[in-house]
Amino acid sequence: MKLLSVNPTTEETTEAFEEHTDAEIESRLARAWGAFQTWRRTAMAERAAVLTRLAELLGAERERHARTMTEEMGKTFASALAEVDKCALCCRHYAEHGAGYLADEPIAGEPGHGAAFIRRLPLGPVLAVMPWNFPFWQVFRFAVPALMAGNVGLLKHASNVPRCALALEDLFARAGAPAGAFASLLVPSARVEKIIGDARVRAVTLTGSEAAGVSVGAAAGRHLKKTVLELGGSDPFVVMPSAELDAAVRTAVAARVINNGQSCIAAKRFIVHRDVYRRFVEAFVAGLERLRVGDPMREGTDVGPLATREGRDRLERQVADAVAAGAKRVGGGARPPPGRGWFYAPCALAEVPRSAPAYHEEVFGPVALLFEARDLDHAIALANDSPYGLGSSVWTRVEAERRRFVDEIEAGQTFVDAMVASDPRRPFGGVKRSGYGRELAALGIREFVNEKTVVISAAGNARASAATE
Ligand code: NAP
Repeated sequence: MKLLSVNPTTEETTEAFEEHTDAEIESRLARAWGAFQTWRRTAMAERAAVLTRLAELLGAERERHARTMTEEMGKTFASALAEVDKCALCCRHYAEHGAGYLADEPIAGEPGHGAAFIRRLPLGPVLAVMPWNFPFWQVFRFAVPALMAGNVGLLKHASNVPRCALALEDLFARAGAPAGAFASLLVPSARVEKIIGDARVRAVTLTGSEAAGVSVGAAAGRHLKKTVLELGGSDPFVVMPSAELDAAVRTAVAARVINNGQSCIAAKRFIVHRDVYRRFVEAFVAGLERLRVGDPMREGTDVGPLATREGRDRLERQVADAVAAGAKRVGGGARPPPGRGWFYAPCALAEVPRSAPAYHEEVFGPVALLFEARDLDHAIALANDSPYGLGSSVWTRVEAERRRFVDEIEAGQTFVDAMVASDPRRPFGGVKRSGYGRELAALGIREFVNEKTVVISAAGNARASAATE
């Protein structure tokens, strides 16, 4: 089977790649295992130096990599440039803080003159199954901390971004990671379980849909491999009467259409207190209608095409099913350009009934769901009435309301008066069907380490110091 790189703006195939044979996968696994034997013993400072070189390469080549992303999955060129910059920030963050995050942690209370501590050791090759929507950033989020901890990385990227997958492999090699320490495996999802089952693969991380998480999580469970699962979301964006409405509306529009509406932490359900509901909806829909939909390479474009024809078709089906179930379409949104490209005009749906699939599913495109809340309790209940629990954004200036949202919204993150965003300095992850485990910051780098308890007895300590005297 061939992996095709298709430009979603033109619908043209840019390049086709043969998938790797079993023999090629075996050779990459063997090289990864070999690289691990040296990389695990490589000093932290040297690992950090590779990450710093990686950041420098990204800085020098940002336009090239941004263009590859835009051509392969349709994000606006401006947002692709920002994505490259964020990857460099991630490299610099772990180059500076990685050693500290991994430092020995003393365990207090050891009797006598003994010592006890936790040492954080690498696990080995980590298989990463990654999505196309942030084709560089999602990979850096796993690979940079994993490599800083002394692991090596095997990337099974989404089948529609093979050019990004190969560009990433090339970047890590040129930054000085040992041969095989970061390799792309060009395989379709049907071949993932066999790779998970290989004894050399020590852990698995997946970012993708709930369905992929169920499948990869089950396979990893069968082989007893540690997993981190970063899955879909249907993030609530809650607006209370005290909110600064202009800022809330501006942020709401941006939060819904970020990455052409295809972000796990895009705000998807807008829950607005009835006192400000009408004003919010009018301004929000006007904001959607002002968006410029079109060629993602063109300066000034706000929303490009969806990444795949299947994604566009799924979105159309979700909207049609919601309307058939009684939802009201509010605002037509900007018209997509005529002709080719998997464009979708941003719009909003009000009064979506619980019986509509869109009420419970992730809506992965520029379509907002609007809900009117009677009061604070109702707003929290609506926010939690979802199988997902990834991010949440709440807008209120009332301290007691803020506390209730922070304590009671079931999500991996709550942002107050701000849009949810990932950042290498902050842990990121979900609860419920948004997955488990954390990426980024200290928690992220500690997911793929052996937290080894070391106890040195008082007598052992004495003998060791006598031997060195
Ligand atoms: P996807 O279809 O689930 O694919 C993600 C990755 O999983 C791809 O590499 C895919 O390979 C692979 N895959 C799919 N089914 C599999 C299976 N049964 N066994 C093994 N591998 C499988 O998701 P996507 O459309 O690329 O990405 C969008 C989804 O990712 C959304 O749900 C979004 O919310 C989620 N996401 C979550 C986060 C987070 O941090 N929580 C971040 C970004 C995106 P193929 O391409 O070969 O099928």
